[in-house]
Amino acid sequence: MNLPVLLPDLKSQQWDCYGCTRCCRELVVHLTQRDIDEIERQGWRQRMSEPPYIRLGRERVLNHQPGGGCVFLTEDGRCRIHAEFGAEAKPLACRLYPFTLHREGDAIRAGLRFDCPSAVSNSGSALTSHRKHLTRLAAELHDAGPSLLGDRAAPACLTDGRQLTNAEQHSFIRCLDSWLRDANRPLSQRLLGMYHLICTLSRAKLQKVRDEEFVELLDLLAIDLPAATDELRAQAAPPPSSRDGKLLRMNIFAHCEHVTLAQARRSFLAGLTYRFDQLSRARRFVRGVGPVPKLVAGFHGGTFAEVARTACPIGVRRQVDELLTRYLRARLLGGTAFGAGYYGWAAVDGLSALLLAVCCVDWLARYFTVTEGRAAIMIEDVHHALGVVDRTAGRARELGTRAARLRVRYLASEGGIERLVRSAGIVGEA
Ligand code: SF4
Repeated sequence: MNLPVLLPDLKSQQWDCYGCTRCCRELVVHLTQRDIDEIERQGWRQRMSEPPYIRLGRERVLNHQPGGGCVFLTEDGRCRIHAEFGAEAKPLACRLYPFTLHREGDAIRAGLRFDCPSAVSNSGSALTSHRKHLTRLAAELHDAGPSLLGDRAAPACLTDGRQLTNAEQHSFIRCLDSWLRDANRPLSQRLLGMYHLICTLSRAKLQKVRDEEFVELLDLLAIDLPAATDELRAQAAPPPSSRDGKLLRMNIFAHCEHVTLAQARRSFLAGLTYRFDQLSRARRFVRGVGPVPKLVAGFHGGTFAEVARTACPIGVRRQVDELLTRYLRARLLGGTAFGAGYYGWAAVDGLSALLLAVCCVDWLARYFTVTEGRAAIMIEDVHHALGVVDRTAGRARELGTRAARLRVRYLASEGGIERLVRSAGIVGEA
């Protein structure tokens, strides 16, 4: 079945794979039945010392080498399946990455993941040049199991119980996107405006405001947005409260808990030990004083006070403005900011989580700066932080729980998101 693939209308975004192998080394690749048949047909089982794939719960995934990394990854960074049988013979998930596909009405919405360094650094060709490839993969994914593309009969909600029609959703996304790409305002202001729009929509009673009336309301809000944002900026901004900081750190911790295949396969006892250690690290991290506990593999050291003291030079803030504008638009236009692409959350919750994700990127970029022994953030720190945050956004179970949603709602309704966004140094006015 060939459904049209809708690519984000992002002329400023490019992508091509340049073979850094990060995805091969770090991700767990889930297999379809067709992938398994293909691997068996290629005869790997007889030629490898390790099984090519293993069971993980009810799923089957590509095996990893004892030291980590895909079992098919060679020492010189090549994929053995690709080398022997060509790119099309690789498992579907490998060919799809870093794109995501979700059902949207009678079409498929394609998004782009920013845990791929090529997407972050904007390297390669226009997204539209990948349309044919994605259309083929969407058909293959549909054949493998239509539910893998999300539920067609579940359009996104604006708030709990207020479902959007496709036309309303389209207008809402268009309204927010035109605000986000307004180059006349620095990102810090556009984020405040986005926050204002979310708050207004979550407070309004919109059960009976539908179709054209809803679109008219959006148009009015869009006209009012610059003045409302300026008004918000003119008001004194208190620093984030200690509760804001704690809730932010809970979110950061959940973003950083990337589960490797080795961790997912550990024995019951090892799993228990890991959970105990995780709980202890989470507690210390949420407390936010003294040394930062182990958070991201390969990084250690630094105290919370040092992280808070890091500076973000003006030149870096300008680069961050471009990077995060691209990222926020990619999430919004790629269908991963709310709805099927983000735990089925309503738009106001998903967009609040997106603002919170920016604050997580800010803190993590500072943390990476400190672990490198520097006092000033470099754009590479932000690239890395964005990769960590986006890897788990919409995928990690902890970030999609009821508790996580309550956290986001609390921060949004009590002004915590505004305080945190205002204090995020990487998006300060350049
Ligand atoms: S992380 Fe991105 S650039 Fe690197 S190998 Fe994977 S798809 Fe290619």
